[in-house]
Amino acid sequence: MLLGDLRYQVPARSYSVANAPRPDGQISLLVTRVPNGPTSSWVHEQLAVDSPVVLSGPYGTFVPDPQRTGPVLLLAAGSGLAPARALAEALLDAPHPRLVTLFFSARSGADAIDHTRWLDWENTRSGFRYLLTLTRDAHAPWHQWIPDLLPTALGHLTGWEVFVSGPPRFVTGCAKIAERLGAERAAVHTEEFFTEPQPWTGHPPVVTEGSVGR
Ligand SMILES: Cc1cc2nc3c(=O)[nH]c(=O)nc-3n(C[C@H](O)[C@H](O)[C@H](O)COP(=O)(O)OP(=O)(O)OC[C@H]3O[C@@H](n4cnc5c(N)ncnc54)[C@H](O)[C@@H]3O)c2cc1C
Repeated sequence: MLLGDLRYQVPARSYSVANAPRPDGQISLLVTRVPNGPTSSWVHEQLAVDSPVVLSGPYGTFVPDPQRTGPVLLLAAGSGLAPARALAEALLDAPHPRLVTLFFSARSGADAIDHTRWLDWENTRSGFRYLLTLTRDAHAPWHQWIPDLLPTALGHLTGWEVFVSGPPRFVTGCAKIAERLGAERAAVHTEEFFTEPQPWTGHPPVVTEGSVGR
């Protein structure tokens, strides 16, 4: 979605929807505070509960292929967790749930967003697996980069559908290794943050006013 303020005082930026569609239409966004970044700072420092905002979208094609039924691998770094969370929810709640593995890369335990939720899901939702690497914590069981860990952690990815989201270098590295491990190119979906995407769709955007809840 593109998020901005009613007076257009901050630049509208892209944020991935972080939840599966809900009957009440509510959406969650997961916004990382970027130092001196105008829009993320506005969200963290000025946006109050119940404030109206301008949202347009959704845009993009980071969605599962309805023809595929095989296991799904979600590779996410940092706020790249947002679309992975939406996908995990949607895939596990689907009428024909697919096996879902979430492999999340955070810098430290403090950055491991939703850690307790994922541990809980591993125990309560069949078909869900959670792997975590803490890239700046040398004492963590896994602290390497996901592209280096994938061959030992997952092995072959033939028949898997793979979704990679996060910073561009992470996305490129993961996509390359996923293909090398056997994932079909058409089954590897990527969502790079930090660079605004090119026009996604020929349809005009739907602009709605939403409000902020916490
Ligand atoms: C398709 C897409 C989806 C996105 N989804 C999300 C999301 O769900 N959550 C989210 O927090 N951001 C997301 N982003 C990034 C977001 O659109 C903004 O770029 C970000 O919030 C920074 O905006 P800003 O105006 O505060 O700072 P800017 O002035 O735009 O950015 C300042 C600097 O921070 C870098 N940067 C941008 N985003 C991040 C980040 N998340 N972490 C570290 N450095 C960053 C930029 O490359 C730039 O160098 C997404 C971007 C794209 C293209």
